[in-house]
Amino acid sequence: MAFVETKQLKKYFKTPGGTLHAVDNVSISIEKGETLGVVGESGCGKSTFGKTLMKLHEPTSGEIWFDGVNIAPLGPKEFKPYRSRIQMIFQDPYASLDPRMNIRSLIAEPLTVLGGMKDKKEIAKKVDELMNSVGLARRLGNSYPHELDGGRRQRIGVARALALNPEFIICDEPVSALDVSIQAQILNLLQDLQEERGLTYVFITHDMSVVKHIANEIMVMYLGQAVEKCNSKELFRNTLHPYSKALLSAIPVPSIHVERKPIPLQGELSSPINPKPCCRFAVRCPYATDQCRSEEPELREYCPGHFVACHRIGEI
Ligand code: SF4
Repeated sequence: MAFVETKQLKKYFKTPGGTLHAVDNVSISIEKGETLGVVGESGCGKSTFGKTLMKLHEPTSGEIWFDGVNIAPLGPKEFKPYRSRIQMIFQDPYASLDPRMNIRSLIAEPLTVLGGMKDKKEIAKKVDELMNSVGLARRLGNSYPHELDGGRRQRIGVARALALNPEFIICDEPVSALDVSIQAQILNLLQDLQEERGLTYVFITHDMSVVKHIANEIMVMYLGQAVEKCNSKELFRNTLHPYSKALLSAIPVPSIHVERKPIPLQGELSSPINPKPCCRFAVRCPYATDQCRSEEPELREYCPGHFVACHRIGEI
């Protein structure tokens, strides 16, 4: 069994209009020290999937295996020992930091509140270590979040996530709010930390170009479902699902000699409330047939390790 696995994981929400299928039968498998990239447009359920993985949302059904234990059915008391081992880095570091606390207090907070540390000297030492690990200069310790740029604020988010020595971190769009040059610094930092500490990541993003360099495996999600899943290199070399192809075509090519035409996605995401038994991408897919509009495609292995949910692979 892999270090982290989900089996047929579902997260549904009751709404006045019906049942919202935010995460629908998603199964993943991540080896220790590796990264699964989860890609899709906003509203595809990728953040809900991340939050369900660390039980910020209780799963509707399915299994979440972490280090050999199915944590999905555990109540708050039984889950407590796992809370520190699984952490999250959020998209908007500014919104996730209390503006009244200085950097040192923000980094010390998880140590005292969740880690139960009381000794002031020990806390100060650990805060120094964490600031050093994420590349925050000690002189910034008494600054407040509004005095720092986005990259430094995200470094605080990373330090807070690392405070309790987690083994598994869910990174939810950790670089989307940052300038491109700063994105690269944070991605490098996450990769260095992964190497040093053997961390396992789920890296959630809407940006294929970001995930390309950090993920070992990639899962493309559309309206709560996995539509394509395989090794990162294989996905970029042999993209099969029409939705993944459209996402990939939107990546800018840094050469005037190569021309890539973006494949326009028609229309909007359809509603994930009471979805019909059909391909959920059919309303936007240029290759949709009657079968696509009346039968849900299964996620099937088309070549070794490469899973796709589409009726027309091989024809299009
Ligand atoms: Fe397009 Fe049909 Fe494949 Fe869905 S099943 S992605 S509608 S071709």
